[in-house]
Amino acid sequence: MLVMAHGTDQAAPGALELVREFVNTRDAELGTDRLADPRAAAAWMGEHGVPGGGEPLAGSDLERLAAVREALRALLLANNSGVSPPPDALETLNGQAAEAAIGLRFDAEGAALVTRCDGVDSAIARLLSVAHEAMRDGTWRRLKVCPADDCLWAFYDHSRNRSGTWCRMEECGNRAKARAYRERRRRAADR
Ligand SMILES: [Zn+2]
Repeated sequence: MLVMAHGTDQAAPGALELVREFVNTRDAELGTDRLADPRAAAAWMGEHGVPGGGEPLAGSDLERLAAVREALRALLLANNSGVSPPPDALETLNGQAAEAAIGLRFDAEGAALVTRCDGVDSAIARLLSVAHEAMRDGTWRRLKVCPADDCLWAFYDHSRNRSGTWCRMEECGNRAKARAYRERRRRAADR
């Protein structure tokens, strides 16, 4: 079977690419998770310049990272379908932002979101402040998650009118269409 790699044209602009790569640390299609154990998670954080990876990570840290990741995925799925994000995902992000003690720091250039914590708190603060920045500059709405149940891959929608739905039309889109077609036929046969 030919395995199609996810396209390289799906990258998000600037720092937002970090959030996309973070969401894609779990690959539903391959059943892999790059944050599944402390050593792999620290390596990923180091590779991506995420603070907090230099310190030993505990199991509870990994649980927090996974909770943030899946809440962000829920928001990106909502970006794709144009509905409101699920309240439990927002609650998770609010809880994690509070725990990471994200605050505002003013300097001569303006103000930025910072965290007074280290370890996994600083990692979560970085990820959430990048998301916040993207919400302000308008790029957030183009960061989407593919709605195919067995895909859920995060991609940046570069289409002119922000109409992209699938991460790979030829695979995820056609698979979903074929499934819908089979269901319609089944329902018709049941009548
Ligand atoms: Zn997909």
